[in-house]
Amino acid sequence: MPLYEYYCQHCNGVFEALRPIREATLPVPCPACQREGQRVMSSFTAFTYRDGYPRRIPDKGTYWHLGKEVKTLPKRMRHHQHPELAEPKPVKRPSKGERAEREGRAVEEVKQKKYRSKWSASERGYPSKR
Ligand SMILES: [Zn+2]
Repeated sequence: MPLYEYYCQHCNGVFEALRPIREATLPVPCPACQREGQRVMSSFTAFTYRDGYPRRIPDKGTYWHLGKEVKTLPKRMRHHQHPELAEPKPVKRPSKGERAEREGRAVEEVKQKKYRSKWSASERGYPSKR
C-alpha cells in the first residue's frame, strides 16, 4: 500500500497513512484528535515561499535534501552531501608546513594593513575618506 499524506485542519498537522490506492482520497482520522484529515494531494497544490523555495503548507520549518528531512539549508556542500546528514569527519590537524604557511599569510596581512593605514587607503587601494 502506498503512503499518503493527510492534513488535519483541526490541529494544523500533517500525518501519513498507508492506504489502498482506491481509498487514498477518502479522509483519514487524525492520530492526534481523531477528526478527519484531508489528503494532501501534491506538494505543490498548496505552497508558500520561504527563503526563495516553494514550501508545502503547513510549513514545518524544515527542508528536504535528497529525500531526507533536515533543519537547515545546506550552505556548504561537499559532493551533494548535506552537513547534517554527513558522517562526522575526524578533524585533521594542520601539518607543520600548513601552519607555517598560515602564519606567513597572517603576517603578510598585518603588513598590508599597516601599509594601507600609513597611506590611508582602503582594501581595494582607493584612498579612504576620513
Ligand atoms: Zn488532528
